[in-house]
Amino acid sequence: MKKMLLLSVFALCANAADYEVLDKNIRNPKQTYLNGFKNTPMQPAPNEQWHVHDPDRTQPPVAAPQYDGKTVPIPMDGTLLFDGSNLDNFTNKKWKLIDGAMQVAKKSGYQISKEKYGDIHLHVEWMVPTGMKGWHQKQGNSGVFLMGRYEVQVLNCWANRTYPDGMTGAIYAQQPPKFNVCRKPGEWNSYDIHFKAPVFEGKELKSPAYITVIFNGVKIHDNYEIKGSTNYRKVASYSAHGSKDHFKLQDHGNPNMFRNIWVAPLKMKLGK
Ligand code: MG
Repeated sequence: MKKMLLLSVFALCANAADYEVLDKNIRNPKQTYLNGFKNTPMQPAPNEQWHVHDPDRTQPPVAAPQYDGKTVPIPMDGTLLFDGSNLDNFTNKKWKLIDGAMQVAKKSGYQISKEKYGDIHLHVEWMVPTGMKGWHQKQGNSGVFLMGRYEVQVLNCWANRTYPDGMTGAIYAQQPPKFNVCRKPGEWNSYDIHFKAPVFEGKELKSPAYITVIFNGVKIHDNYEIKGSTNYRKVASYSAHGSKDHFKLQDHGNPNMFRNIWVAPLKMKLGK
């Protein structure tokens, strides 16, 4: 039975056969309940059975990380934005430089890229420090906001569970990752985000954004059609914006760290 269940997981999830899929979520006995909401709007089809931030939405299986915590080399056509030595390519100088990384400082606000980007391959390494107090959304909450408005969630979900559309790697408030690939707090994680920007004609959406995310070497979104800007407790929706915008790293009050941030031209074919 267990084997059949595992096989069906393989059949359902694209690329799953490439990874070791573990059949249990990492549970923390100190977490006595799962947070979330049942009084929020329903998600659009095909997820209309779930509320936004629904605690009962299916938790993705745990997959073994394929990333060892080393800095990932920049490709030949990439541009290094942050090597730990300075914040020259970012506008918020309140973030701390520490141990080759930048760290969210207390009440410092979001970090913002100096340049604006449209289609992009964005590489970010991040770490949730050990000793975070509280569970659920309090375990090292941050995020990578493409164009300042489409969030790939950053959080510790190793021995920490939360509503799936807000867990690590979720397109926040809309789409859980296919797998939970978190490394432990105090260990580095890696995001490779391949993002195709939405296109607007005047105020009309002509083509939505698409995203593929590789989290610790495992594909957790595969050409996912983004449904709109990230909205807490609301269904995502688009409002027209320019073809390029700054990306942001979230200050959610936790001292998360980021390092080895680089961008490269989008080479992956995304969209329909
Ligand atoms: Mg966040």
